[in-house]
Amino acid sequence: MGLFAFGWRKSLIVVLAGDTGTMKRHNRSLATRPGIIFILSAPSGAGKTTLYNGLRQVYPDIELSVSCTTRAPRRGELAGRDYRFITRRKFAILKCRGRFAEWAKVHDYDYGTLKMPLDRAIKAGRDILLDIDVQGAREIKRNYPDAVAVFVVPPSLAELKRRLSGRGTDDPKIIQRRLANARGEMRQIIHYDYYVVNRQIDQAVGVLAGIVEAERARISRVRRWRMETLRQRTRSKKL
Ligand code: 5GP
Repeated sequence: MGLFAFGWRKSLIVVLAGDTGTMKRHNRSLATRPGIIFILSAPSGAGKTTLYNGLRQVYPDIELSVSCTTRAPRRGELAGRDYRFITRRKFAILKCRGRFAEWAKVHDYDYGTLKMPLDRAIKAGRDILLDIDVQGAREIKRNYPDAVAVFVVPPSLAELKRRLSGRGTDDPKIIQRRLANARGEMRQIIHYDYYVVNRQIDQAVGVLAGIVEAERARISRVRRWRMETLRQRTRSKKL
């Protein structure tokens, strides 16, 4: 997986780097806008983490939201990078104090997105990526209507089962439970703005990158035009 991943990421970066760089330069100099919340949801095993990492390679400037959870860390997970692993008590306190932009119970554990990092990113014009479930996505869309919600679809339920079993991090009971939840989650797709079928990873990251570019270029998001930059460009074109 390592070598394969390196291969596709590298080629994808080469393909997208030119456009992305130019877009970023243009967006920065021509207009200012608030940061965009990008939500990525998927049944577990749909390959969301790989997609998420792929998108990060193309857009290292997109911030990652680190959720709070009451579940224990899995092998290889790092506190503060993958999740803030907190106790049920701490979670309840944060909830009471209204510190979550959204929270949900997923597979028996509590998960929540802290409000403060989200609001800071939006205000500073930094885009932020949220890896959250369908309940959380609906709540974020309610509280932040300009958020962009993307649903990652596995090619089939059979493939989803194969991926979940191959991961080797969960016992069969948990896998069965997650498969049952996946069916319910798929029905929530109608509440999302976009869907991406994760059949082939580089193609799926490409679709996701297209969504990011389109949303960044939305005129309705512009807070202020930098007319001077526009004039300079027009002048240099004439020369
Ligand atoms: P996992 O435990 O496998 O990392 O995540 C289980 C599910 O919880 C995934 O669908 C993931 O997207 C979701 N999740 C992770 N963080 C949050 C969060 O902050 N809020 C909500 N609502 N769901 C989350």
